[in-house]
Amino acid sequence: MFRYGSFFASLLVSIVSLIAILATAKNHGLYIPNEPNASLLLLQSFMAVLALTSLILSAVIDEKNAAQISLKQAMENLESQVIERTTELQRSEDLLRQANLELKKLVNIDGLTQVGNRRCFDDRLKMEWERLSRELQPIALILFDIDCFKLYNDLYGHQMGDECLTAIAQTAQQVLSRPADLVTRYGGEEFAVILPNTDIKGALTVSEQIRIAVTDLGLAHQNSEIDNVVTISLGVASLLPSLDEELSTLIKQADMALYRAKQQGRNQSVVF
Ligand code: GH3
Ligand code: MG
Ligand code: MG
Repeated sequence: MFRYGSFFASLLVSIVSLIAILATAKNHGLYIPNEPNASLLLLQSFMAVLALTSLILSAVIDEKNAAQISLKQAMENLESQVIERTTELQRSEDLLRQANLELKKLVNIDGLTQVGNRRCFDDRLKMEWERLSRELQPIALILFDIDCFKLYNDLYGHQMGDECLTAIAQTAQQVLSRPADLVTRYGGEEFAVILPNTDIKGALTVSEQIRIAVTDLGLAHQNSEIDNVVTISLGVASLLPSLDEELSTLIKQADMALYRAKQQGRNQSVVF
């Protein structure tokens, strides 16, 4: 009864008191001594003690109920705060992951030509070399270099030279069809093309496709000793990676083939 608040506690006290009064009036119960006044006094004390105890008890229970309600509210608040913070944290994590991806991309891309940079070349070549040595599959490398590019810069300026580099890099990229093939800027006006799972015959085909695509761009080069458009020379090599073969061998071979292409008159692909 006390749990239902002070109203019901008072009601209980009143009912019990009423019963006690009626019983006493009819000479029943505990408070029937010889003197009626003493009986009344006893009855009043009983009612006072009962009322006081009941009110204190119901006040304590009221307090407890209020504390329980505020605890429940606090718990609910805390729960919604936790949910809110978790959502915020997830959002921040997503943003961070996205920023990391962007950063990774930026770290591996050449700012001018938008193809892979030297770091990207080193990482990818190493990775593919290790993968293909396990799979016993060949890996090919094409190194190509713009012909008479110094003369191009001299005639058309560095700005046009930059645009020419970008156009050639993008053209080479567009020639490649397999997802694992990769064009990177090896340095200056020299590019490297990694062709995994490709033998020398396949690599030469790709090399010639790139050379023709660049010539077909028709970028005017009035200073060139080769043609009146920009041309490139390419060195091609392919190796079966193995434990006793060095990765640098592939680069050396492609470089030597490129050197021969330059020596033999430029605007051509030479196989090591
Ligand atoms: P070759 O046919 O023998 O390759 O002659 P080349 O003139 O192309 O070769 P060389 O090595 O003498 O000159 C390379 C030129 O490439 C010189 C350099 O100014 C230019 N170059 C290198 N990097 C850049 C670049 O980022 N932008 C521009 N515009 N030019 C560059
Ligand atoms: Mg050059
Ligand atoms: Mg060069």
